[in-house]
Amino acid sequence: ALMQSINARLARVYEETADAYEAATLTGSGTSAVEGMLQSFAPRDARTLVVSNGVYGERMANMLRMQGKPYVCTEGEWLEAIDMTTVNTLLAQYPDVQAVAVVHHETTTGRLNDLTELGELCKARGLDLLLDAVSSFAAEDIEFDAWNIGAVAATANKCLHSVPGLSFVLARQELWQRSSQAGSVYLDMHSYHKAQHANGFSPFTQSVQPAFALDVALDELAQSGGWEQRGATYGARAERIAATLDGLGIQTLLPRDQYSSILWTWLLPEGLNYPELHDKLKAEGFVIYAGQGNLAASVFRIAHMGEIDDDIERLCALLERSF
Ligand SMILES: *Cc1c(COP(=O)(O)O)cnc(C)c1O
Repeated sequence: ALMQSINARLARVYEETADAYEAATLTGSGTSAVEGMLQSFAPRDARTLVVSNGVYGERMANMLRMQGKPYVCTEGEWLEAIDMTTVNTLLAQYPDVQAVAVVHHETTTGRLNDLTELGELCKARGLDLLLDAVSSFAAEDIEFDAWNIGAVAATANKCLHSVPGLSFVLARQELWQRSSQAGSVYLDMHSYHKAQHANGFSPFTQSVQPAFALDVALDELAQSGGWEQRGATYGARAERIAATLDGLGIQTLLPRDQYSSILWTWLLPEGLNYPELHDKLKAEGFVIYAGQGNLAASVFRIAHMGEIDDDIERLCALLERSF
C-alpha cells in the first residue's frame, strides 16, 4: 500500500502526468534511476542522441556506452546552452535516432536547460525525450506533452526533501507497454513497474524506512503548495544569497537568467581557494559544494533545497564575514 501510494502521488506532482504517466520506484540513488530509465527505454536497435553540456549529460552517454547501445553525443561545452545547430546536424547525420536523452537542470553549473526547441523537435519527429530531472523534479516546470517526454528519472532526496535511498522513473503508459530494452536484471524498470502496479511488491528488497519518509515528504510537498511554490521558495533564497554575494563583489559563473532556482555556481574571488572557504563555512554548520572537473579550482556552488528557511539569514551573515 505504501509503495502504491508513493507511485500514485509521484505521478500527481505535475498535473499533466496524473493520467498519462505511471511511476516505478527502486532502491538506489538518482543515478540508478537515470541508468534504469536508459536501460529500459533507450532502444537496443536504434540510436539515442545524448544532448550534453555537463557532468550528468556525459554520464548518460557513458551509461549508453557501457550498456552497449547505439548512441551519439553532442559533447557540448559546460558553459554553453544547448546548441540546436549541432543537434540538427547529428539528426541529419544519424537518421536512426529514435530517442533523445538530456539533463533538465545541469547541476554541474546550475543551468536550467531550456528544452523548448529541443522538445518541439522531439514532438515533431516523434522522438522519445528521456529526461534526467534528478535535481529539478518538484521545483521546476516540466512540459511533458510539449517536449514529448517519454520518461523522467528523479530521486527522493533533492527537491522532494526526503532522505536518500529511493529513486524513481515516471514514464508514459505507452512506454511501459513496450517491451523492455534492458540488459540488466536489477535496473529493468519494467519489472518494478509490473510488480508494483500489480500488488505493490518489488522484485528486490526495497529500502523500506526511506519509503515512509518519502510518503511524508510527498504530503509536505502537497501541503506547502506543490512544485510551483517550492520553486518560488528556492528562487527567493537564491535572490537573498545573491544580494549578499553581489555586495561582496562575488560573481556568478553563468548569466543569472540561465540559472535554475535550485543551485547557483559562483566564481571564487582571487586569493581564496575552495577548501579554505568550505572549511570556514563548515565550522559554522554550512556545507557548500565544490565545482566538478575543470571548474574545481575556480568555483563554488550553493544549493537552495531543503527545509532551510531559518538558515538563510545566518548563512548570509556568515558569508559577509568569509570573503
Ligand atoms: C545529483 C544528480 C544525479 C545523481 O544523483 P545521485 O543521487 O548522486 O546518484 C544525476 N543527475 C543530476 C542532474 C543530478 O543533479
